[in-house]
Order: sequence, then structure tokens, then C-alpha cells
Amino acid sequence: MLRLSHFISNRDEPPRSGAYLDDIDPATGELFSEVPDGDERDVDMAVEAAARAFPGWSGTSAAERSRLLLRLADLIEERLDEFVLNESMDNGKPVALARGLDIPRAAANLRFFATAILHWSSASHATDAAVAGGGRAINYTLHTPRGVAGCISPWNLPLYLFTWKIAPALATGNTVVAKPSELTPVTAYLLGLAARDAGLPPGVLNIVHGLGAKVGAAIVAHPRVPAISFTGGTRTGREIARVAGPMFKKLSLELGGKNPTIVFADADLKQAVPGCVRASFANQGEVCLCGERLLVQRSVLDAFLPRFVERTRALRVGDPLEPTTDQGAIVSKAHLDKIRSYLALAREEGGEILCGGEAPDRLPPRCEHGAFLEPTVITGLAPDCRVNQEEIFGPVVSVIPFDDEDEAIAIANGTPYGLSASVWTSDLTRAHRVAARLEAGTVWINTWLLRDLRVPFGGVKASGVGREGGEDALRFFTESKNVCVGLG
Ligand code: NDP
Repeated sequence: MLRLSHFISNRDEPPRSGAYLDDIDPATGELFSEVPDGDERDVDMAVEAAARAFPGWSGTSAAERSRLLLRLADLIEERLDEFVLNESMDNGKPVALARGLDIPRAAANLRFFATAILHWSSASHATDAAVAGGGRAINYTLHTPRGVAGCISPWNLPLYLFTWKIAPALATGNTVVAKPSELTPVTAYLLGLAARDAGLPPGVLNIVHGLGAKVGAAIVAHPRVPAISFTGGTRTGREIARVAGPMFKKLSLELGGKNPTIVFADADLKQAVPGCVRASFANQGEVCLCGERLLVQRSVLDAFLPRFVERTRALRVGDPLEPTTDQGAIVSKAHLDKIRSYLALAREEGGEILCGGEAPDRLPPRCEHGAFLEPTVITGLAPDCRVNQEEIFGPVVSVIPFDDEDEAIAIANGTPYGLSASVWTSDLTRAHRVAARLEAGTVWINTWLLRDLRVPFGGVKASGVGREGGEDALRFFTESKNVCVGLG
């Protein structure tokens, strides 16, 4: 069993409290690692180290920062098996998914920003008619790193989201104090070791483990951390904004969703059915971009629904370490209880469970005490009931029929959230029209979760503030300064 430590100034640091939290393998219910129960003293030490390292790192050439981050990406790939196994056991996700998506994407995040920084240019404006003051001038924009960046990430895509924040922060010359979720800390711990081996100078990347209410809150409130990049739930995001807003910190908040998947009658069902199954249940439905509401045009419901349910039933739920498993364990018993409470609520609200709703009948002995739930399809619920309004974040989808395009858009937009949506149709004109009217930061048409790292990423309404993709991320982690040179 692994006992983790904080990673501060390239050293393994035990928690000042001397206390550790249990990190449980959700597939077995057994202790997987011990996580430092960090507090504000550990955060202070990490911020101190990061502040000390900042002048050196921000003064290091972009080419050298890039080289070190590319080396870190290489090390993740060289240690792929170790990262995959630990991510799967920590989180409950199938090894196939960790190997095919999460860990390669972590390396890709580092490579993307390590190379983006080499090609980033800033604007220059030749001024020949100043609004006030007269005269000619050249204006240029300087992008300067902000200092110590605070990066806080959730448990669902542990290393993928951790690196999505850390990579642009480091590439632009900031130093970092980061906190992974205490439910899934192990790959972040391994990343610290890899960063040291890659040659990152001490203090450039610091990782503090522990509870959000202690470690996360201390990072957010720390006066020497001017920028916070957060991914997690909407309620936590609101609390972070409450604390950081009056301190005028730069905030990027990537929050929850209640995403609609919309199937029009003219959709190609051969593509739409498997596409919708994936959008509903990938990673046990624990992806912020999963579609929890499946809106199906009434005229195609009879053709669509039996095929959708049949394909859902065919998903293999079981041991995450089996290479053929499609659905692994739910991240924790507590989260499974929360999901189950929504299934009880669905029954109370008059819904019918078409499939799933229970733990699988047969599990290998190793997984008998794990947190499992079969993928679940619900029908018969009104669009405005709680199950169709609140984020469940599990393998549960609610099917909502609609008659026409206007009704589909009204239902799709009728929640407090606006993270993403997907639309299945063969009518290209309709696809563009609907995409423009949907209140969402990302709209997929005839696909789902296809990600180009250059595009803006983020939500509207209660799904967040700010954009994290490509150049938006470089801008977030830098201050833009205008320099105006008078030419007489
Ligand atoms: P939480 O908001 O509970 O936690 C996210 C992170 O914030 C964790 O590291 C947590 O620590 C920490 N935290 C908790 N309280 C505070 C606080 N007061 N101050 C600072 N940090 C704090 O989310 P979950 O981990 O449960 O993740 C699931 C949520 O994340 C879902 O709502 C999902 O939609 C959202 N999400 C959004 C994405 C997006 O891109 N928009 C992508 C992925 C997920 P700890 O858990 O260790 O206590």
C-alpha cells in the first residue's frame, strides 16, 4: 500500500498535521493509498516554494520551458503502464479507457502547450490617428506570467484535467501550486515524481494533497496566488468565486452540466444509437460532458428507444482491470449513494426505469464489495422535474420526447446549466441553426467528445466562467500589458 506525500520544491513532504486520509479502490472497497491530510501550513510552504521559483522560471526561455514539458510528456508515455494501472485502481475506470483516453491525453496536454508557447505571438498596432493626444506611435502587447497559479481539479478524469491546467500555467512561465481530488490523488503524485525526473527546477510545480475545504480553500484564499483555475462542481465554484472575487483574483471556473443529446427524426440511427450510448455512459457517466438528458423526436422514438436500450444492456459492467470491461466502478460509495438517491427520486417523480438501476448480478469475487451500477435508462419524466434539472454525474440517462425543433431547444436550454450539447440530424441547415440557438459552450453535431485542443472550452450560465482551450488558456495565465512607443 502506497503512502503518498506532498510534492514541494521537488521534495516529498509529509503533511504538517501528520494525518492521512484513506484513498479507497472503488472496485474492491479496499484501501489503495494513504493521502496526506494537508492544511494551510502545507499550502503556505508550497506557495513559498513557488514564489521563490517564479523569477527563475519566468525568466527561463520559452524554448527551455518547452523542452522540459515535452520531456515530462515523454516520461508519462514511458511510464504508461504504471499511470494506467494506478488511474484505473484509484478511480474505478476501465483500464481500456485509462490507456486509450486519460493518460495519452495527459501527455497530449503537455505537448500541446509546450509547443503552443513556441508559436504564440502578440499584437502590434501602428497608430497614426490617436483618439486623444495626437501623434504617431507603435503599440505592442506584452504577455507576462501572473506569478503563482492555483490549479484545483476533480476526480473524474484525474490526470487529464490536472495536466489541462498545469501545462498552460507552466508553459507561460507561472509556477504552480496544484491540488488533485483527494479521492483520486495517485496519478498526480506520480506526475510530481516524473516532473522531478524530467528536470523541472525545484518549486516550479508543487502538489498539495488533502480535502477541498482545507487545502483547496487555502489555495483560493492565499494572498500570493493571483490566479485560480478550477474544475469541479457548481456549488464549489460559487464558493470559490465568493472568496476570490473580492480579492480580484483571475478566475477560470469549469463547472457542472446537465447536457442535452438531441436526436431528430432524420438522424442516421446507425451512427446515432452508438453515439448516444457513448455520450450517456462513457466513464460510467462521470464526464462533465456526458449527456444526462436524451431528447428524442417523438416520431422516431419507437425506432430509436429499443435499439438504444438493447445497446445499453450490452455494455459489460465489471472489474475495471479486465481489458474488455466497458463500465467500471463508480468513484466512491458516497457518490454511488448520491446516484441511487436520484433513481429513488425518479421513481417518486413518476419515472419508469427501462434498464439498469441495480448493481450487476455477477461480479468477480475481487469486486464483491465495490461500488457498481448498471447503466440506467429512465423515461416518463417531465423536463422540469429535479431528475431532469440537477446534475447526477453517473451512468443514468433520462429520455425526453419532443415534437419539433422549437420544443427541443426550449427543453435543451431549460436548465441552469450550459456546458455542452450534441445534436444528431442529417439536415445540415438544421444542425447549424440549432447549434447557434443552444445555450452551451460546446455543441457537437453527429459526434460527441471529439476534442481539438485549439478550440475554446468552457460553459455558459451555471457551467462556468472563462475558456480554457488553446490560446484562451495562454491568455488566462498571462497579463496583457500595452506598451505605447511615441514616434513624435
Ligand atoms: P468538487 O467541486 O466537489 O471538487 C473539485 C475539486 O475542488 C476537488 O479537488 C475538491 O477537493 C476541491 N474543493 C472542494 N471544496 C473546495 C473549496 N471550498 N475550495 C477549493 N477547492 C475545493 O467536484 P468533484 O470532484 O465532485 O467533481 C465533479 C464535478 O466536476 C461535477 O460537477 C462535474 O460536472 C464537474 N466537472 C466539470 C468539468 C468541466 O470541464 N466543466 C470537467 C469535469 C468535471 P476534494 O474533492 O479533494 O475535497
